[in-house]
Amino acid sequence: MPELPEVEVTRLRLVPELVGRRFEKVDIRVAKLRVPVAPDLSSLVEGRKLRAIERRGKYLLFDCESGWLLIHLGMTGFLQLLPRMAPPGKHDHLDFHFDDGQLLRFHDPRKFGTVLWLTGNPSCHPLLASIGPEPLSDGFNGTILHAVGRARRVAIKQLIMDSQVVAGVGNIYANEALFVAGISPERVSATLTVPEYELLAEAIRSVLGFSVERGSSYRVMEDTAAYFPLDNRVYGRGGKPCLRCGGTLHETRLGNRSTVFCRSCQC
Ligand SMILES: [Zn+2]
Repeated sequence: MPELPEVEVTRLRLVPELVGRRFEKVDIRVAKLRVPVAPDLSSLVEGRKLRAIERRGKYLLFDCESGWLLIHLGMTGFLQLLPRMAPPGKHDHLDFHFDDGQLLRFHDPRKFGTVLWLTGNPSCHPLLASIGPEPLSDGFNGTILHAVGRARRVAIKQLIMDSQVVAGVGNIYANEALFVAGISPERVSATLTVPEYELLAEAIRSVLGFSVERGSSYRVMEDTAAYFPLDNRVYGRGGKPCLRCGGTLHETRLGNRSTVFCRSCQC
């Protein structure tokens, strides 16, 4: 599943290629995504200049002059930049044509992605309005996490996976960040101290930031292998040796999600 780093790397890759270009048309081959694609999408975007590409959580926001194109990659979606005449293959549902001959193609085998046209302030849209602070922004820190966590009695892993608390921390990155911070995923959020929340916020930034940095070296959109290979420290390594102490990594389920941690290194 594309996580925040994949979405950010997609954005970074598209900005220099597409910002400043104008949309010519959209070919819709399959409209039945998670939310049906507007049948008049092509006439809505035609002739508009792409002013910027922003990201909020795992949503990409294309600023199209008094309108926004919102794209979420869902479970299996990715965006490819191709020359105009590239023939579509299976699961290539939408093509956005630009005035320089480039084509932005939306490919999504499981069709859980979203392509929506928005007007008005996108941050007020129901899909975006309640998303918490961006973990890679300057505004995210341990104090913010502590303010929310101290008032709740949920497992810390579930707290940081709540997109209203912090944007875009998926299961893999939550496991990894808690290992880096040395905090057990089962700890009750209200019991963590401010310094622990600071360590955790820094760990979240570092695991996501490292993945964005590393992903930037992949040509993600020209390849169907769009998701980064991860050298996970704990996720997917239940029963294997802890990379820090050599003890056996414990695997459990929290909130019905696979959770792996070291009982010695994380408390
Ligand atoms: Zn350990």
